[in-house]
Amino acid sequence: MAEAELHIDLGALAENWRRLAERSAAEAGAVVKADGYGLGLAPVAQALARAGARKFFTAIAEEGARLRQALGPEPEIFVFGGHMPGDAALIRDAALVPLLNSPEQMTRHLESAPQAPFGIQLDSGMNRLGMEPADWAAVRGRARALGPRLVMSHLACADAPDHPMNARQLAAFRAMTEGIDAPRSLGATGGALMDPAYHFDLTRPGIGVYGGLPFAEAQPVVTLRLPVIQTRDVSPGESVGYGMTWIAERPARIATVSGGYGDGIARGMAPQLAFFHDGVPCPVRGRISMDLIGVEVTHLPEPPEYLELLGADQRVGDLAQAAGTIGYEILTSLGQGRYARRYTGG
Ligand SMILES: *Cc1c(COP(=O)(O)O)cnc(C)c1O
Repeated sequence: MAEAELHIDLGALAENWRRLAERSAAEAGAVVKADGYGLGLAPVAQALARAGARKFFTAIAEEGARLRQALGPEPEIFVFGGHMPGDAALIRDAALVPLLNSPEQMTRHLESAPQAPFGIQLDSGMNRLGMEPADWAAVRGRARALGPRLVMSHLACADAPDHPMNARQLAAFRAMTEGIDAPRSLGATGGALMDPAYHFDLTRPGIGVYGGLPFAEAQPVVTLRLPVIQTRDVSPGESVGYGMTWIAERPARIATVSGGYGDGIARGMAPQLAFFHDGVPCPVRGRISMDLIGVEVTHLPEPPEYLELLGADQRVGDLAQAAGTIGYEILTSLGQGRYARRYTGG
């Protein structure tokens, strides 16, 4: 069997969420955008709902509608992208709460359904989404009279708690929301781990729930083992893979695993990347192909049946560091691979 298994421990996922919720002075929601950070929207969200999450966040209305199907009518589902043209039916039918990002979105939303719930996203300095202070000043009275379900903003530098941008955004958010009685939210995983001043009424953890940094105490959620298709011995001077980028200097044993950049294992990771077998690192040799990777296993007592890319020995954050990226990209890339997803726990 050459299909690799992405194993997802829903028990660890739920435990990470509970621990982040305990760290929050406020209620904790759950961010499940991008197919639950690549791990599967429905099973992930259902496990989090069982663990007690009542407010969920998606990026776009289509995700929100799929989430509603998975969760049933109870939980509140927010959409970071707000109310885009053409979204009215989805928002109404799935009872989504768009986080309105501009006065135009507000007009669009209220024209499509004057009574429909909404939240407000404010830009406190990240310059990505949300109303600027002047936009907000123009619609604030109207929004306030209608009672937004949530008023939120997002931190640009919460993975670096001492960064001065955090305090600047906190002050900007406070100034913009003073006198508003709607629930307020500023922090995601990083914010939930920072001073309670950043928590307000609701935190919105994502990556930490899935086992990624900056939640250093997170339990690993994902295990990825790739099956070994073939093992061969190479002599000094022989090369492995496309372009002969690795040449054996001594006799070596190379295992070819099933999986490659077509499965979200970025080709650029190759020179730094190692797989693991029972805790023993096994370095990648040569280039990563679309479906195959050569791994040196000379030092293992037996040719292995599989090699582990993610698990207890190499966590999401470790792999991200080796790859020069962040855990978010590792998870969402793997989420697009040809893996059979297997869920346990939760
Ligand atoms: C992705 C996202 C989150 C979750 O962030 P994490 O760092 O994954 O915890 C929260 N809020 C907004 C607006 C986001 O885009």
